Amino acid sequence: APATETRLLQGLNPEQLAAVTLGPEPALILAGAGSGKTRVLTTRIAWLLQTGQVSPGGVMAVTFTNKAAREMLTRLSAMLPVAVRGMWIGTFHGLCNRFLRAHWKLAGLPQGFQILDSSDQLSAVKRVIKAMGLDEERFVPKQVTWFIAGSKEEGLRPRDVEVRDEHGRTLVRVYEAYEAQCEREGVVDFAELMLRSYELMRDNDALREHYQRRFRHLLVDEFQDTNRLQYAWLKMFAPPGREQAVFAVGDDDQSIYAFRGARVGNMADFEREYRVERVVKLEQNYRSFGNILDSANALIAHNRQRLGKNLRTDAGAGEPVRVHEATSDYAEAQWLLDEAQQLHRAGTALAEIAVLYRSNAQSRVIESALFNAGIPYRVYGGLRFFERAEVKHALAYLRLIENANDDTSFLRVVNFPTRGIGARTIEQLQDAARASGRSLAQSVGAVAGRGGVALAGFVALIDGLRERTQGQTLREIIRQMLEDSGLITFYRTDREGQDRIENLEELVNAAEAFVTQEGFGKDAVALPVDEQAPDAAAGVVPDADTGEIMSPLAAFLTHASLEAGDNQAQAGSDAVQLMTVHSAKGLEFDAVFITGVEEGLFPHENALSDADGLEEERRLMYVAITRARQRLYLSFSQTRLLHGQTRYNVKSRFFDELPEGALKWLTPRQQGFGSGYARSYQEAWARGSGLSGIVGAGRVEPAPVPAAMASSRSSHGLKVGQSVFHTKFGEGVLLTLEGEGDDARAQVNFGRHGLKWLALSVAKLTPIE
Ligand code: ATP
Ligand code: MG
Repeated sequence: APATETRLLQGLNPEQLAAVTLGPEPALILAGAGSGKTRVLTTRIAWLLQTGQVSPGGVMAVTFTNKAAREMLTRLSAMLPVAVRGMWIGTFHGLCNRFLRAHWKLAGLPQGFQILDSSDQLSAVKRVIKAMGLDEERFVPKQVTWFIAGSKEEGLRPRDVEVRDEHGRTLVRVYEAYEAQCEREGVVDFAELMLRSYELMRDNDALREHYQRRFRHLLVDEFQDTNRLQYAWLKMFAPPGREQAVFAVGDDDQSIYAFRGARVGNMADFEREYRVERVVKLEQNYRSFGNILDSANALIAHNRQRLGKNLRTDAGAGEPVRVHEATSDYAEAQWLLDEAQQLHRAGTALAEIAVLYRSNAQSRVIESALFNAGIPYRVYGGLRFFERAEVKHALAYLRLIENANDDTSFLRVVNFPTRGIGARTIEQLQDAARASGRSLAQSVGAVAGRGGVALAGFVALIDGLRERTQGQTLREIIRQMLEDSGLITFYRTDREGQDRIENLEELVNAAEAFVTQEGFGKDAVALPVDEQAPDAAAGVVPDADTGEIMSPLAAFLTHASLEAGDNQAQAGSDAVQLMTVHSAKGLEFDAVFITGVEEGLFPHENALSDADGLEEERRLMYVAITRARQRLYLSFSQTRLLHGQTRYNVKSRFFDELPEGALKWLTPRQQGFGSGYARSYQEAWARGSGLSGIVGAGRVEPAPVPAAMASSRSSHGLKVGQSVFHTKFGEGVLLTLEGEGDDARAQVNFGRHGLKWLALSVAKLTPIE
């Protein structure tokens, strides 16, 4: 009805309206943060459905996070009374998973294939390296994992990778062996989800035609962060020059995933290849007050590689951006806690307060401050619920119920809790499996003696569980598994087990929430098939008839692998939101704290050596700043305990790039370093002694300054902030001091020669002042 249509389009500005109501042509919406890109994309879907231009089954929309996908679904169902289930809305990984679940057979996967998360993947790679007898020092598992993921993201299988030397050849052999192992175990990693579905679309004409006929409108949010493979994948569903309409929205200034292969260049390629006639620009920002927006604009203006856009707001200047200098990360957390409590008392919901940080490791201190003060908080990303050891153990049992050949899961729990299965027995088993090309579970018969008996007992336990849980609900399955596996008994006797038992209980809750959310119904055992089967004539019926039928257990396990851990205890309740800047993309909050705005941390030290890295850090800061609606706080700290070492930091260079008039310094602006140190040592010490020195809402009991720590205040006669001279690199400024005595290291900015870490026992540094 026209009335609803009008309501839908109400309040859009002319540019937004034009974008929403574009014809079925390729479109690129290029606009800055908070200009309504996501809103335009969502409204367009609603408008297309409303005006009958497409049915829900003809829409595919790609978002960047699960949270964003859920939000989009919620918004859509609020706008329209349509069945949102038929639409394909999700992340690239989520959609690929959905695709492969429907076509597992064509894709050459077992029906219950499981997804390796990043830590599973690392341990799988380690096993390959070990099996090949390679040196982990030369083939560092993490780097090998990056190599494999990077190759896949470029669309390259082992045979496609170009090698230059012996090392490269070996890497490719590891990649090959890793693929074979995944194949054997029936598991796929994240990149494989993408590559496998891309290849299936590319190679299967009938399937490709089916999907090209099906999806009339493809909409992609955060297009600037797509990688090569994702773009190629999209082109399979909607090739340039055809009738499918691709609607891409993005912001080059918010491209922050270069380290994972994101290619801003995809925007230019898209514009050219699809012959986009109209690039829509949105310049009105609806999110933030003036001071916040001015800060973002001024900062990002320091980048050279920009397509160039502007943002303005009608909202007025609003509050100044508040800047706080703390003596320690601990003090920073206390300050933040006080401010957050004040905001909350003045009426801001906790969920509207976000604390952002550059590195995951920063969250611990903040968490403990919030925890001690009894303020609910929720951490996104990082230490995810599904990544905690006990939860991973439980999931491994569940995976084995689903797929006995999942060797990663097998190895994780075969001797956990202990069943007297030693390392030698496992090695024998692995040798036997390798020799016969079968899975570990299939090879237990090959191991003789006591070890063999114990192994057979383990396999029998899993088989028994599988039989007993036939037809049970997810909740019952998990309960049964927790008992039979011995996990609960084990943690009951463990000294720190209570916490872990609670997490396992939480797993039952997570499963329950999942079942309700996904509409399984409490007792349902299968997902309704909402896909239309591919064309019978096209000869792809055999697989499609399995459609998306997946047991609730398999669906839940998939969910656990894909979900970025938002399934925690207080899901839905009012809680302060903690996350890295990367995971804050696309979100907005009334109040935002950006913590640790220090040289070496933000911008990150790994990015300081090249101009591109620094520009990416600046975009990251731009993303962080533009998350705030009303209030923005920036804080930095003189000292910080990170990865077990105290670091001495100076404030970020980004402060020099912000407009002074928009800022308000809450602490006097100090050059150099004052008396704050003595106090921060005490705090560091109190914290080092296991939080026992912290009472109530986090007061610090005076503690003696330990001699070792006091002496590290200055090392080898050097101090942070001081100018120094080096015979080779010339003059520089000392940024960070770490370690003591012979281990003392200094980070020095030598200007033209860049940033260097120097061992003070070797490097000759002379103070200049
Ligand atoms: P980001 O680049 O951070 O992803 P975005 O461009 O996607 O931002 P949105 O999240 O869509 O921006 O919108 C930012 C805020 O502005 C949202 O709260 C949205 O509801 C609001 N908004 C967008 N357009 C309008 C409008 N025409 N009138 C009022 N509010 C609007
Ligand atoms: Mg957005």
